[in-house]
Amino acid sequence: MRGNEQLAAIIESKRDFFIQISDKIWEYAETRFEEKQSAELLCQALEKEGFKVERGAAGIETAFIGSFGTGKPVVAILGEFDALSGLSQNRGVAAHNPIQEGGNGHGCGHNLLGTGSLAAAVALKQYMEEHQLPGTVRYYGCPGEEGGSGKTFMAREGVFDDTDFALCWHPAPVNGIMPGSSLANYQVYFKFKGRSSHAAASPHLGRSALDAVELMNVGVNYLREHIIQEARIHYAITNSGGTSPNVVQANAEVLYLIRAPKTPQVEEIYQRVCDIARGAALMTGTQVEIVFDKACSNLIGNSVLEEVMHKQFTKLGVPVFDESEKELARAIRETLTDEDKKMFRRMKGLENKDLADFLLPYSKAGLSVGSGSTDVGDVSWIVPTVQCITACMAIGTPFHTWQLVAQGGTSLGHKGMLHAGKVIAATALEVMQNPELLEAAKAELNQYLDEEPYVCPIPADVKPSAIK
Ligand SMILES: [Zn+2]
Repeated sequence: MRGNEQLAAIIESKRDFFIQISDKIWEYAETRFEEKQSAELLCQALEKEGFKVERGAAGIETAFIGSFGTGKPVVAILGEFDALSGLSQNRGVAAHNPIQEGGNGHGCGHNLLGTGSLAAAVALKQYMEEHQLPGTVRYYGCPGEEGGSGKTFMAREGVFDDTDFALCWHPAPVNGIMPGSSLANYQVYFKFKGRSSHAAASPHLGRSALDAVELMNVGVNYLREHIIQEARIHYAITNSGGTSPNVVQANAEVLYLIRAPKTPQVEEIYQRVCDIARGAALMTGTQVEIVFDKACSNLIGNSVLEEVMHKQFTKLGVPVFDESEKELARAIRETLTDEDKKMFRRMKGLENKDLADFLLPYSKAGLSVGSGSTDVGDVSWIVPTVQCITACMAIGTPFHTWQLVAQGGTSLGHKGMLHAGKVIAATALEVMQNPELLEAAKAELNQYLDEEPYVCPIPADVKPSAIK
């Protein structure tokens, strides 16, 4: 049996073990930096498999590192396990059907992500043991990906500095390699403080913090025309100052998320947004406090590692779905809009299909699907990083929806998850056994860094924060 086949066989032999873990994390559905049960479950699984586990890595309670072996190369396999609020949904049901109204749900499939990466780490460890292969395999338990940039905080504390390369994946509606193309971002609170007063009897004595928030938002909406096309600015009013219109609101707060292809572009827009906030404070006679929440860098692809991963993915084939899984995908697609279904319209071969049954051709230019952000970006500035996507859901399923939650807790998601584990393990093994590949991958990253060295976008004094 070849190496990749052996790795796949190890994962298959522990199939039920991994599925149980994924389903438990799906049930826990804990949001950013509060993933205590999910993290502990993964830590215990790593210990059971013979990894040495460091809990509370990088000073973050729910971050951890499971390690096996000694010396070089050091392989970093990244896992996520956080859920999203408001997306509670029963598994396998093709209609909106929350388990708990307003509860959390795994709307980005991170229960699968964390467990698929665990499967890869476990398989690689067992293979290294059996073949007495030198090197270290580490599983990085990375909390708070959703709006928390856990990996960026971990990167700031240096936990990836002694690694040689990193691998990750993401559940998706298609099978392929994920090239570097995500957006850098900053997330920042603007807290306005005014003076309360009776809104009818003495409005002239009040200074409205809510007015300041509204004027700031108007100002930023005018800014949009004068920034680069690729940038995105989103906001949420996180404190409107109470529910009484007869009170002049003394406190109000707005949370901004600013995205652009590169961190310096985000920084430039951020400074202009800060000026607008100060202008709004000046106009309303209030004070503004600017509180940096989190940030992440754009993802740098690595064509050397991507080609290795694509080769291994081709050898392993794609997940094969049975009739009941196809039936669920069909039913889920009935609930999608035509626009949703057109999400991958530029990809040939996907028209009129419910589930992807092939591997997308590899292209360095990227998949050009969406323009989100990921904190894997920061890892990719420190070590060569590669990621794949595997089919875990019906084609057209939008991320962060109940439809994704429904599928991520079923055999449809499990199949894609175990497959991702196999692809990651096989890719890691090939790179470990061919030092010239690692050298070429590092040279490619260094060329990039020579022009633009990595600077962690999160200031030194900012701490990770849970959803308030
Ligand atoms: Zn995600």
